[in-house]
Amino acid sequence: MPDARTLIVPSADVERLLPMPACIDLMADALAATVRGDAVQPLRQMLKLPGGRNAFGVMPAVLGGADGSNAIGAKIITVFPGNDATPYDSHIGVVLYFEDTSGRMLAIIDASSVTAIRTAAVSGLATRLLAVAHACDLAIIGAGMQAMTHLEAMLAVRPITRVRSWSRTAARSAAFARRAQQRFGVTVEVCESAESAVRGAQVVCTVTAAREPVLLGEWLSPGVHVNAVGACVPTARELDTRAVVQSRLFVDRRESAMAEAGDVLIPCREGAIDESHVLGELGAVVTGTVRGREHDDDRTLFKSLGLAVEDVAAARFIYERALADGSGTWMTIGGLRPAD
Ligand code: NDP
Repeated sequence: MPDARTLIVPSADVERLLPMPACIDLMADALAATVRGDAVQPLRQMLKLPGGRNAFGVMPAVLGGADGSNAIGAKIITVFPGNDATPYDSHIGVVLYFEDTSGRMLAIIDASSVTAIRTAAVSGLATRLLAVAHACDLAIIGAGMQAMTHLEAMLAVRPITRVRSWSRTAARSAAFARRAQQRFGVTVEVCESAESAVRGAQVVCTVTAAREPVLLGEWLSPGVHVNAVGACVPTARELDTRAVVQSRLFVDRRESAMAEAGDVLIPCREGAIDESHVLGELGAVVTGTVRGREHDDDRTLFKSLGLAVEDVAAARFIYERALADGSGTWMTIGGLRPAD
């Protein structure tokens, strides 16, 4: 009997099926495959919605696998930054996952949870590759969904003993600290300014929807590693020019960074750097073709934009694990020819 069923995987299952340490390794494999040329992914399509603040995004990719099969998929999401003041996530949608022999749609997976976990996992990978080995002092700027998964990712890759947090709304930082204590047993110091959170930190994550710098280079100590995760359009940035100029800069994908990353493009437009300041893609650091940190007192910076291959790699992993443990709900949407 032909099988045209599709597995629906909700967020609670994603959180169980995609644990952070496994996702960090998965992202290493996906980004290495990308730099080896085993992936196809155009730049994402982000449609600005009326009013200019919100967007609708489509992110397709095909990712080769070790067994020769291709994972085919796309993330389809709305991005509503103002949702941080509502019960809704700021990124809502699905990851669609297809197989490559019949084109069957295998799974429809919650995208909010995939995005939260895979983005932090990529930052975890960057931190594993680029931060000093003994880094224990962490600052997180922003206190939304990404802040929590970034805390989890940083705890997974470095021996973190101190965590400082700053967010625009003090109450949100305080709520983040409470949840972090409950979830990870970690004490988070809520700071009154981004500067007081960042001074002396060895790892800094910026995970805000800010459009103007929330992190200044003058606050960053030698030896720091920064994951810059918000600001995914050419006109917005979280870091000032100095923070970028003084750092060894790595990106998830050069083509995306030079098209979408205000943190890179604004200093370029100012003439402070040019494209050669981007030393390479994270996948090339994984494969060893680009050198990461060279000296303990280098400042390293990973600019993350988020790639469709990350979502598709996560979808394949989640689908295979869901099959193995019976998670999710099957439904038939279509895809079978009518019987003759
Ligand atoms: P949330 O909506 O959950 O949280 C947003 C955070 O940004 C809140 O802490 C909020 O502060 C803060 N913020 C919003 N506006 C400003 C501002 N003008 N100045 C300073 N802080 C501000 O979002 P997420 O955690 O899901 O995402 C965080 C960022 O990461 C977003 O920009 C998102 O687009 C980006 N992102 C990047 C991905 C990637 O792959 N690189 C993937 C997914 C998201 P407060 O609530 O305290 O007011």
